[in-house]
Amino acid sequence: MGGIDMTKDLAGKRAIVTGGSRGIGRAVVLELARRGADVVFSYAGNAEAAERTRAEAEELGARSVAVKADVTSAEAATSMVDAAKEELGGVDILVNNAGITRDKLCARMKDDDFDQVIACNLRGAFLMTRAVLRPMMRQRSGAIVNMSSVVGIRGNAGQANYAASKAGLIGLTKSVAREVARSGIRVNAVAPGFIATDMTAAMPEAAREAAVAQVPAGDLGTPEDVARAVAFLASDGAGYITGQVLAVDGGMSM
Ligand code: NAP
Repeated sequence: MGGIDMTKDLAGKRAIVTGGSRGIGRAVVLELARRGADVVFSYAGNAEAAERTRAEAEELGARSVAVKADVTSAEAATSMVDAAKEELGGVDILVNNAGITRDKLCARMKDDDFDQVIACNLRGAFLMTRAVLRPMMRQRSGAIVNMSSVVGIRGNAGQANYAASKAGLIGLTKSVAREVARSGIRVNAVAPGFIATDMTAAMPEAAREAAVAQVPAGDLGTPEDVARAVAFLASDGAGYITGQVLAVDGGMSM
């Protein structure tokens, strides 16, 4: 793992990350841990990968807890917040990262393809956000970072469901940011471009080549590139930044 910022600017912070077993979420868990935060994270079913992430976070000196919790369930959202309170003593940071794709052209898209993607990517973020707002409002501080996508800004053929969920996250981010700014809570989003994870490994080779051709920086990004942006937005260094969408895309969306 090639984290370049070795400062402990998140020392004493308690974080929840959804979908932390693999890919970008895993890199976020480890970056938050590297910077001094303790982390509760969820995963959908991949217990082995979750245990690897948890053990690595602990090697970095963090308290880390993995919880099998489906983000589409309101009860699971409450149980994540309870776990953060019981295991870490509270919650200062929420990263809504869990996400899935069910790609098809709109004309052929099944109801379920649409509903499952919205339920995980958008409703899941809403449920977790609602669950952390009460403790964050009580302590009058907190930072929420939502994992949007360049696709939520530009659209993408074959991803009407996914793009709608990621555009929806931007609306959620800005609306909640307005509601809670005076309570000391900041809400921002990152919009990754093409990042090398299992999600993009599933793309056909021709589609990957076409995607990379659109990136001014000329290559895919890494999960760590995204994790560093998330950690910054979660930190007090971003104390006057709220309601923003930070693209981490090698220049793709400009
Ligand atoms: P990934 O490698 O497929 O990992 C997805 C993670 O989410 C896994 O930890 C998975 O857990 C978890 N997850 C899936 N469904 C869940 C559910 N219902 N409840 C709880 N956890 C769930 O994906 P990724 O590429 O790292 O993407 C992470 C986020 O970044 C997503 O929101 C994605 O849309 C966004 N993003 C990715 C890219 C990219 O190029 N990769 C670009 C822009 C945005 P298990 O391991 O248990 O399955």
